[in-house]
Amino acid sequence: MPQRQSGLDALFDGNDARDPRSVLAKVYGYSSFRGKQEAVVSHVVAGGDAVVLFPTGAGKSLCFQVPALCRDGVGIVVSPLIALMRDQVEALKQLGVRAAALNSSLSREEFDAVRAGISAGTLDLLYVTPERIVTPGFRQMIGNAKISLFAIDEAHCVSQWGHDFRPEYRQLGELASLFPGVPRIALTATADPHTRDDIIERLGLSGAEVFTTSFDRPNIAYEIVERDQPRQQLLRFLSRHRGASGIVYCLSRAKVEETADWLEDQGIRALPYHAGMEREIRDRNQDAFLKEEDLCLVATVAFGMGIDKPNVRYVAHLDLPGSVEAYYQETGRAGRDGLSSEVWMAYGMADVIQRGRMIDGSGSGDDIKRVERSKLNALLAICETAGCRRQAILKHFGEAHQGGCGNCDTCLKPVETWDGTEAAIKALAAIYRTGERFGTGHVIDVLMGHDNEKTRRFGHVGMPVFGAGSDLPAKTWQSVYRQLLAAGFVQVNHEAFGALTLGPDARAVFRREREVRFRKDRPTTGKAARNASQRSESARAELSGRDGELFEALRRKRMEIAKDLSVPPYVVFADTVLIAFATERPLDHDALINISGVGQSKLERYGDAFLEVIHEFE
Ligand code: ADP
Ligand code: ZN
Repeated sequence: MPQRQSGLDALFDGNDARDPRSVLAKVYGYSSFRGKQEAVVSHVVAGGDAVVLFPTGAGKSLCFQVPALCRDGVGIVVSPLIALMRDQVEALKQLGVRAAALNSSLSREEFDAVRAGISAGTLDLLYVTPERIVTPGFRQMIGNAKISLFAIDEAHCVSQWGHDFRPEYRQLGELASLFPGVPRIALTATADPHTRDDIIERLGLSGAEVFTTSFDRPNIAYEIVERDQPRQQLLRFLSRHRGASGIVYCLSRAKVEETADWLEDQGIRALPYHAGMEREIRDRNQDAFLKEEDLCLVATVAFGMGIDKPNVRYVAHLDLPGSVEAYYQETGRAGRDGLSSEVWMAYGMADVIQRGRMIDGSGSGDDIKRVERSKLNALLAICETAGCRRQAILKHFGEAHQGGCGNCDTCLKPVETWDGTEAAIKALAAIYRTGERFGTGHVIDVLMGHDNEKTRRFGHVGMPVFGAGSDLPAKTWQSVYRQLLAAGFVQVNHEAFGALTLGPDARAVFRREREVRFRKDRPTTGKAARNASQRSESARAELSGRDGELFEALRRKRMEIAKDLSVPPYVVFADTVLIAFATERPLDHDALINISGVGQSKLERYGDAFLEVIHEFE
């Protein structure tokens, strides 16, 4: 008997070679590969090593799953998070693929079943943690098995440079010598060159072909606002996403809990997630987020890596992330399914001070602190840009974009700018004349001519700059200082409790050698936000009348099936598939199988259940 015998075999004639295109069509129900997927797949099927750097949602999973199904033997997937393996394995099983995960949460019997599957050659894909793969026990277990490939998911975890460093990943470098001739494919959505070089070096992939693609996420709309009344601002943002799933990021654990409680009080279903919570509750909340469809998860950055939920419709930041890389990774969790999604951030001067203090108090060496500070400044520049946000973000990753994306707040409502040279000189003079010892609040008091205890105590009342800025409101001065900071004319001395000091280029401004233009702040409930929301309402809103109702009915059916199986709804069918059902109205199996995302196995499992719903709408 041939070794491969499974539900999948029924799809292929005994003699048929499993070529990538027929696997794609029959197993996944997709008619074509996307972007560079096919190039990666052919390379790995032929036995080559690969490094795949695609953004979230580009379809990295197929890059190793399809070759594993085309080649003989079991494909071993290294993945960092046990909690998420289960869902990935379940999704594969739904496709008729023989997949399993080996981790410490298995019972003895389950463990033995996996072991038996490996030695009998009846597994297509096996998910393991990096800790396990290098243990002698595991090596013995797979010693005699035929291995089709090793896939190293979230490969950036091997790099100390990023923020998800996992020391165990370092040991994966040994795979090449332990299993010569078995292709290895490393995948990540982290773009920066430093991390890429680390992956290649640490995993011994210098001979691998590197596949990259644009990091643009055109379906994500960007919006950054200045913080005013953050809770109200958040609430307005969330009101555009009723009934959808999303993530709200906060910096501290306390703020996570308070915000989640507050949202619940406002009638928005919200749960907290942070590393300080009891493990059981944290896992339960994560699970709820994956399985429910209208949950707001309020989290620290401890949440998110490896989250495959495709229909995260929004990501909000109540605090400034530490870098553009972190911002892009966190916001990138929205819209994996390619449908429009919206990301939003509120930030203010206080964030800059707080972040700076975190860097200075980190105990890192001076070099690292300098790098961290410049990373923070790069993000500030994006926050304060008057140009297209997408262009600014992609430029940071070394990618050219012509701008004018039409899907960010600055494009939807171009920012007005004003000649700020005079204001800049006054703002800088107020810092200089008060001795570079005071924070924004006090310096603005001086500019505005506020006669109070502190301005009097320090003898600032009556100085030439005292009241020199009373022609502009305090809010404008806050905006001026933020922008001077983003441009590097002003710096924050964190050792002196956030005192503002002059940057190296301030002198040129004083001498009027540098013209300064500022962006005009706009009301936070502005039109841009509404425009953006029209594009990125949940999928339901994009469907009109009857189609929308059918979509809702299909969603209910999906939830019913998912609950029975105890899997997240998207494991049954993605939103994109339900949208196609609702608009194209397939009425029989032949029509169903033509819809992208419907493969043989799912057709047999769920086809009739969904057809029934569709027929009710005819
Ligand atoms: P990544 O791991 O790169 O973030 P995924 O592998 O999760 O992306 O894929 C994102 C979504 O795109 C998934 O829902 C997946 O099924 C879908 N997808 C991937 N490749 C294709 C394709 N060739 N045709 C249609 N849909 C695809
Ligand atoms: Zn834009």
